[in-house]
Amino acid sequence: MAPAPDPVPEVTPEAGLGAPAPEAAVQLEEREPPSTTGLPRAPNLPLDEPVESEPPPTAPNPAPVVLQELVLLGREVPPKTSTRLAWAPTQSFEGIYVDTPVLVVNGVEPGPTLCLTAAMHGDELNGIETVRRVLYNLDAGKLKGAVIGVPIVNLQGFHAGSRYLTDRRDLNRYFPGDPKGSSASRLAYSFFHEVIAHCDALVDLHTGSFYRTNLPQLRGDLRNPRVVQLTKGFGSTVVVHSEGTAGTLRRAAVEVGIPAVTLEAGGPSVLSEDAVSHSVKAIRTLLNHLGMTTRFSLWGDPEPVYYNSVWERAQVGGIVFSRVSLGQTVKRGDVLGTVTNPITNVRTRIISNHNGRIIGMALNQVVQPGFATHHIGITPPKGQISPPEDVVATDPGSARQLADVTTDTPAGSGEEAAESEQPDASAVEENHTPAVENSADEVGDEDLEED
Ligand SMILES: [Zn+2]
Repeated sequence: MAPAPDPVPEVTPEAGLGAPAPEAAVQLEEREPPSTTGLPRAPNLPLDEPVESEPPPTAPNPAPVVLQELVLLGREVPPKTSTRLAWAPTQSFEGIYVDTPVLVVNGVEPGPTLCLTAAMHGDELNGIETVRRVLYNLDAGKLKGAVIGVPIVNLQGFHAGSRYLTDRRDLNRYFPGDPKGSSASRLAYSFFHEVIAHCDALVDLHTGSFYRTNLPQLRGDLRNPRVVQLTKGFGSTVVVHSEGTAGTLRRAAVEVGIPAVTLEAGGPSVLSEDAVSHSVKAIRTLLNHLGMTTRFSLWGDPEPVYYNSVWERAQVGGIVFSRVSLGQTVKRGDVLGTVTNPITNVRTRIISNHNGRIIGMALNQVVQPGFATHHIGITPPKGQISPPEDVVATDPGSARQLADVTTDTPAGSGEEAAESEQPDASAVEENHTPAVENSADEVGDEDLEED
């Protein structure tokens, strides 16, 4: 177990071309005890401080009792160490691929290892900033356990400003991966086995997709008690039950016994201070909840758990303008927005078929027929406390879409015109799975699968 211990654990500056840390920030703090794993030691970087041009003159800590070292990605991360490692998936030819940075803060005392992953979809930016804020504000000298943060899992997509990998595959459909499979499958396999396997719990950060935005919310398989337990640690954050599509990281993690949730906040391609702040506060609350930090956050009233949710859709194509906002409570029959055909001036309303709350919605945009526009967390019937309510059970005939022909009328006046029942009740039909299954994001089109 202990081959020729290096007297001076020489830290090579991260495999040459790989991921050299900014020279200024690399603070090679040598530690006394020899490596027990024979692996090179990861350098201790001041992750709890902003990176300045000069290395901060921190006093070398005469580390207390060494309790827990973390071995990750071919490095040994001693206790009380913050560092940056590199996950090298070798998915391209030598010299071309850029290693994916992995931030690690290993605390002074034993505790769980919490993993935070972001930008699995390369255009989802809020999670990147969330991971940065959480990791760079952790004090390894006070932390119990370890936090592993991967700000940009899908570096390929990130560079292209795209949700997907360069081959247009959605990386989050290939977990736990296959070392002999497609490029996406190999990437997934490598990431799952080299990083995720070290986690005791996982929070995968996402945003809405395709010009949709989400109220900050957790998605998890609420049939799994350990997942339920995890969702309780995030303060006042809406929880939506969702089993998770096959191939998603969180589902694959849960299947191997690692409780995992998706934290959704905001929309793609933009950074939202509200979404990031909420996410950061929620994760700090989780760290506190898990006993890893002592930082305590105050929250307002608790947010509900939605066992059922459904997307309302634009039944026709055109320009969508919403009349509701994220977080708003809606009732059955409420007008959620309108879709207007810019050529014919026909305007159609998008009507809520449920009592509930807007937990995700499309930004104003041009859509095709069938585009999911409003995600409603369904308020359970009175007296009902747990799982239940089959969404389809609600009268399908009520899937009312108010279409009004407003040809040649000035905008506005036509909106209140005659109603006519839309034959298509697809907004409801899609949720004919049993109550507790597939309610949140399995709505038919892949595009909605946020996580
Ligand atoms: Zn995503």
